[in-house]
Amino acid sequence: MVVPSVREAGPASVPARARTAVVTGGARGIGAGLVDRLARDGWSVVVGDIEPEPGAESPAGVEVRRLDVTDHAAAVAFMARVAAERGAIDLLVNNAGITRAAPLAELGLADWRAVVDVNVHGVFNCLQAAGRHMLTAGHGVIVNISSVAAERGTPWRTAYATTKAAINGLTRAAAVEWAEHGIRVNAVGPGYVATGVYTAAVEAGRLREADVLARTPARRIGTVEEIADAVAFLASDAARFITGQVLYVDGGFLADFGVPPAQTSA
Ligand code: NDP
Repeated sequence: MVVPSVREAGPASVPARARTAVVTGGARGIGAGLVDRLARDGWSVVVGDIEPEPGAESPAGVEVRRLDVTDHAAAVAFMARVAAERGAIDLLVNNAGITRAAPLAELGLADWRAVVDVNVHGVFNCLQAAGRHMLTAGHGVIVNISSVAAERGTPWRTAYATTKAAINGLTRAAAVEWAEHGIRVNAVGPGYVATGVYTAAVEAGRLREADVLARTPARRIGTVEEIADAVAFLASDAARFITGQVLYVDGGFLADFGVPPAQTSA
């Protein structure tokens, strides 16, 4: 596909129509918070989720459609339909993600493949499919949802950590290739956030909240709204010269060396 660079074509004019955002996995959790925030910021939002609740009411400016991000052909058709109906895809947020907790020696191939399929192939499918329309339009923003797990190893999360590190690599590679075509690609890496996944892990005894708080300098977990703030910033013109970055929203989790002094008072 041969497309003119911004340098050749000049910057694309700001569209007069409502800006269209696609959010994958936006039916619940962090994705639902992103959708809510983007809609309040004036975006017209199309959610692609694997099992949208039948008949569930969407906020104004939000349309929910079925999409399994692991299905390459479905992702291509989904993005083509949105671009045809709305005129363009101005923003894609690759939020859909799953995890399977298991000791590495016992991690089944089916679970490994499931996590890679959603978190890596799913992000690739949607990024490439939406990116093609953005290349044609000469503008677009992509935000991939990564995780602090991309940077730190932790037991039982091999598949998840591997895929989130892959998302960071995909983010940088796409950003570099598409920057001159007016497309920005960044990632947001949340620390622990109180969604159903987190609560279920705590309730099932796979995660102790006290350990999370002790390991997080801010001594609390993040909120969906705090992740949405970061995505909204990267989606906005205020971030117009920012591309290829991973913005961690983690209360200091990654900055912490992890070994406190023996005495905490001087
Ligand atoms: P949730 O499980 O609450 O939400 C994920 C959404 O993605 C669900 O609606 C789910 O649908 C949907 N989904 C799953 N598989 C597919 C698929 N194949 N195609 C389309 N949609 C799909 O997760 P969170 O909100 O907690 O996480 C959202 C993102 O944030 C993920 O990428 C996650 O890795 C990341 N993250 C989360 C953190 C946390 O502490 N919560 C920390 C760091 C990163 P359904 O429910 O029907 O399966």
